[in-house]
Amino acid sequence: MAIRNIVIVGGGTAGWMAAAALSRLKQSGLVEVTLVESEAIGTVGVGEATIPPFVEFNQILDIDERQMLSEIQGTFKLGIQFVNWGNQGDSYFHPFGNYGYEIEGMHFHQVWHKYRQSGDPRPLHAYSPETMAASHRKFMRTDGMQRDDLPPINYAYHLDAGRYAKFLRTYAEKRGVVRKEGKVTDVRQDPESGYVTSIAIDDGTELSGDFFVDCSGFRGLLIEQALETGYEEWTHWLPCNRAVAIPSARKGAPLPYTRATAHAAGWQWQVPLQHRNGNGHVYCDAYMEQDEATEILLANIDGEPMADPNHLRFVTGKRKKFWNKNVVAIGLSAGFMEPLESTSIHLINTAINKLVSLLSLDGITQAQEDAFNRLTMKEYVRIRDFLILHYKATERTDSEFWNYCRTMDVPDSLKEKIDLFRLNGQIFREEDELFTATSWVAVMLGQGIVPEGHNPMADTVAEPGTQKEMAEIEKSIQYLVKQMPSHEEFLRKYCPAK
Ligand code: FAD
Repeated sequence: MAIRNIVIVGGGTAGWMAAAALSRLKQSGLVEVTLVESEAIGTVGVGEATIPPFVEFNQILDIDERQMLSEIQGTFKLGIQFVNWGNQGDSYFHPFGNYGYEIEGMHFHQVWHKYRQSGDPRPLHAYSPETMAASHRKFMRTDGMQRDDLPPINYAYHLDAGRYAKFLRTYAEKRGVVRKEGKVTDVRQDPESGYVTSIAIDDGTELSGDFFVDCSGFRGLLIEQALETGYEEWTHWLPCNRAVAIPSARKGAPLPYTRATAHAAGWQWQVPLQHRNGNGHVYCDAYMEQDEATEILLANIDGEPMADPNHLRFVTGKRKKFWNKNVVAIGLSAGFMEPLESTSIHLINTAINKLVSLLSLDGITQAQEDAFNRLTMKEYVRIRDFLILHYKATERTDSEFWNYCRTMDVPDSLKEKIDLFRLNGQIFREEDELFTATSWVAVMLGQGIVPEGHNPMADTVAEPGTQKEMAEIEKSIQYLVKQMPSHEEFLRKYCPAK
């Protein structure tokens, strides 16, 4: 069956990102694209921190970064500061970008670790431009600069999710996407194939489609309520299941990074925007009541609260299939792990990339469905393992929640990663997995997993040239950071809030 009508259900971040990407097909006259959303139901309203591939998503849409950040009151993000995770009082930084660069084919951290073991006191973060800039609260784009000593600064954005969805709505509507306001009350399916044929809206209209993108949020209107695809829970590994979010007035300059502070039964995010801070406390209701979680959040936010607490519930895990018949679930309808490493909007981005590359307007085949599901499953599992690491690698004994996390069994795939790192600092990444060696090393070292030895290949690097090279990297970073303006000043000149 040829695809001529694509219907997107839901107008949150996922719905409008999908609409913006698919609008090119509409503009070329190849398909009709309609998005249905209900203002009465609204969106989840959180989701403000992103990771670097999101910058590329917007570039592919030919969106002007300065204009977008001005309109959505966005800021820049160089990584995440983790406070109180390994132990109370600890703090470490998970940067975007890499530590140093490969030396004689070896990951930089391997060579650093060898010198560390022989008494060199220099910290690994001295070789990360993003960490050093963040620690001075500075930011500058360096991708246009002619430098051969350092790669460009890696960055992502903090954004106001509601404003971003509106920004993309304008983008998509200009390119012909039709928006329909209304509540979907029924989903009709072909009795033989089970394919979704149309959706009924509460104003009495019926919207037919050949292909449906389910962006209806946690409800999973099509993928679950109609197709009963099933959900695989990961709550035994990622036990947090509640969140309370409160925006607040910002005191002082906006930080160029997200802060994640662990508490007794979860953790708190602080996301700096130009006009406010986004704050939230993610927790597990088996270990903490809603009132206590809200009190902890209120006691730990900078500035005055700007709204009433927004309470959210979720179940960590994923759908058994993301593409089922003629429905693809994107966003929270596909699954949700944890906002800890800002991976949800990223998963929307990669789902759209896969959909766009697999789509054929001649019809739907089993091969498309299988490839989409297999690739997405791999992405979820790899992100899941990285998130579990943050909970598992702790020495905290101050609460039942941390005792559970510290002693829980973890997936074999993660256990192997930890064991190999502990042995000689090796990080094995498979295929094109999202998190880099730098990410794994930052979290493992930051939370107290220290390699017992180093890789013997690190003993073969040429001395003293290597130490000189390392000193030069450190000096180049210091010089670069010195030249950078403060994050606040950069924002003021580059993309002042509209
Ligand atoms: P929603 O925003 O829930 O949108 C669903 C849409 O479907 C709405 O438009 C709604 O009106 C519509 N709808 C539902 N039912 C119907 C119906 N019957 N009829 C018509 N329309 C309907 N992600 C990140 O990348 N970074 C973060 O920092 C981050 N933090 C998060 C913190 C928390 C506590 C949570 C819960 C999530 C966080 N996320 C984060 C995830 C992020 O919020 C979502 O991935 C993102 O907002 C996409 O949501 P969505 O569009 O899938 O769903």
